[in-house]
Amino acid sequence: MRYCVFVLGVSFVLGPILGGCGEIGSPVSVSNTSSPSPRPILSLAGAMAPGVTTPAADSEGSAARENAAAADYVPAEKDPLTRSARIANTAKQHTPLRILVVGAHPADVFDQSGGTMAHHVARGDWAGCAVLTHGVRVHDKVVSDDMFHRKEIPEAAELNKIIVERADAKSKEVIKACSILGVKEQDVYFLGADDAVLLANEAIVRKVARLIRKLRPNVIITHYPLENAGVGSQHATTGQIVMHAINLAAAVDPGDKTPPCEIAQVFFFGTGSAAVRSEVWGAQGGFYNDIFVDITDVAEKKIACLDAMASQGYGGDYARKRIEASDGAFGSRVKVPYAEGFISCYSTTQYYLPVSEINLEHSKDSNHEAINRSSYRVKVP
Ligand SMILES: [Zn+2]
Repeated sequence: MRYCVFVLGVSFVLGPILGGCGEIGSPVSVSNTSSPSPRPILSLAGAMAPGVTTPAADSEGSAARENAAAADYVPAEKDPLTRSARIANTAKQHTPLRILVVGAHPADVFDQSGGTMAHHVARGDWAGCAVLTHGVRVHDKVVSDDMFHRKEIPEAAELNKIIVERADAKSKEVIKACSILGVKEQDVYFLGADDAVLLANEAIVRKVARLIRKLRPNVIITHYPLENAGVGSQHATTGQIVMHAINLAAAVDPGDKTPPCEIAQVFFFGTGSAAVRSEVWGAQGGFYNDIFVDITDVAEKKIACLDAMASQGYGGDYARKRIEASDGAFGSRVKVPYAEGFISCYSTTQYYLPVSEINLEHSKDSNHEAINRSSYRVKVP
């Protein structure tokens, strides 16, 4: 019982984005029969008020009225007067989401949102991952670790060969980790940018934009573009690249025959951007984690994902410590054992005020009960 409400909560958190908000309506449900009847014709200029029937046609005016009606015709499902009510009252099942996670480095996609992805895949949503850089120069046992203490680094040609080999090894680890979450190999994309100096340039923005048009996600999860005040951070640069790409993806682009694609919501990783601030760049801000996803039931999977990233030393003790220190810290903010935090990019449009089922349940608990609730520790060897 303790953790059984998370599914509703998650669907509540991310589900309403596309109007799939059937769960939201349950506390204050409105019967379908009370919804306004679909009006086949809506005059936005107010020529025909709701519920007012067309007067008996006379032969002189009927043709003109029919022409005007044809011009003003709005399908019932797009009627702006009743649209939100229709969505809120008739969407009994959530609209399956397509969620694309874009990370700067190989481990970012699951390190920062793996639990959330696991929930959505289990619910039947689609989740895909795009890894912007190969991550070899910053996060690799051979290139960034072993070579750190060498007296001499290999010649350029040899080093490039090693980088390609290591990038391939890291890609395989990411695919393995994603499979633990239920993300299919074919839905993991490697964009191959160099992680030494990652800049937001037109070429990479275009590449990401084309991927967005192709995959047509409703939701994108990526780094906060102002992480570390946007200075010298590959995470921040990735967030900026993705935001530029979202704009470009919403328009046509010569050379790409795929139609434009609009994104319903963007969530930024809370971890990293909103974790403990320890640099001067952290003095700036203004953001906060407004979404927490309780990932307690899949924390073990997340540890297994980190174990899979042997190339960057994320497995073993580090994985366990990281889950406790990071996801545990996020969880403790909202009194659950483990959570992932997110920063919503856009405001959301609701029909009812959004209060999650989890928050409602938590409001019934005393402070000590809340402490007990969040004290569970994942038991993994
Ligand atoms: Zn990273």
